[in-house]
Formats: sequence, structure tokens, C-alpha cells
Amino acid sequence: MHIAVYPGSFDPTTNGHLDIIKRAAKLCDKLIVAVLENPAKKPLFTVEERVTHLKEILKDYENVEVQSFSGLLVDFAKSVGSNIVVRGLRGVTDFSYEFQMALTNRSLDNEIETLFISADTQYLFFSSSQVKEIALFGGNIDNMVPQIIKEEINKKLKEKSY
Ligand code: ADP
Repeated sequence: MHIAVYPGSFDPTTNGHLDIIKRAAKLCDKLIVAVLENPAKKPLFTVEERVTHLKEILKDYENVEVQSFSGLLVDFAKSVGSNIVVRGLRGVTDFSYEFQMALTNRSLDNEIETLFISADTQYLFFSSSQVKEIALFGGNIDNMVPQIIKEEINKKLKEKSY
């Protein structure tokens, strides 16, 4: 059974992430979307909130699961019986970072393979940080994120009274 892990911050999930998830889910028996608490980033949503959003968005995808993790990705992958890591590539700017990560993960565990997938061109330029910035300044993010994310961002921005 091929189990793949798609790790990321997903703060918040964008239509770009969703496109990668749909494509990756077709290539494996089970895809685990793994939400990482990244200490280097100041999140808009807690890990629990991000997991809840993803579970709702992905509820109709039978072979997709959502989990959170902290620590090393290679350890998480091993704990769920996976040696396939899925990452999205938006272009050359992502490439050097992603390539370095893939090689680092392989140096930690030689069995781990990283599978790079590009989103459809219409989603390629979306990033979570841009979505947050546009929403903060009242811009339209309708075509960038699933509806539930749009609602949750609006709630969060009101709560934080930006
Ligand atoms: P991280 O903090 O791990 O980079 P992100 O949630 O920002 O987490 O991204 C998770 C993965 O999804 C990364 O591999 C990133 O390159 C990819 N990704 C994000 N947005 C897009 C997009 N619009 N198209 C393709 N890949 C994307």
C-alpha cells in the first residue's frame, strides 16, 4: 500500500494546496495531509483550527486523512508507514528550498522519496501569506481559497480587530 504524506503549514489552505492534494490522492492509496506547527512562522490559525478546516474541506475524499505533527517529518512519515513526501512547486523560487529539504530528508532517512507536483497554472501563484495579506486589506480572495477558509479568515480578522 502506497501511503504518501503532504506536509505543510496550511495557514490557511489555498486552492493551490487543494489542487496538489487532489492530484497526489490519485497517485497513492492513502494521502495524509500533515499540518506542521512551524515555530519559524507566526500563524493566523492554530494547528487545531487548520486541521479542522482541512477535515471539513476534504471530507468527501475517501483516501485522504488529515493529521498534525511536530518534530521531524521523516519521523512522522515513518510513524504512519509512509516513505513518500509530496511537496508542491510553484516555480524556481520554491525549487532551491524544496530541493534542499528533499535532500536533507533523504540524508536523515535514505528510504524517503520526495514527489514534486505543480498545481494547475490558475493556482500556481497563490500562497497562504498573500491570501492573508490581501484579506487583511479587504481584497477579494474568493478564487484563492475554499469558501470555509474565506469565512474563517473573516471571523479571525474580526476577532483580532485589525
Ligand atoms: P510550508 O510552510 O511547509 O512551505 P505551505 O502550507 O506554505 O507550507 O506549503 C506546503 C506545500 O505546498 C509546499 O510544498 C508549497 O510549495 C506548496 N504550495 C503552496 N501553495 C502552492 C500553490 N499555489 N501551488 C503549488 N504548490 C503550492
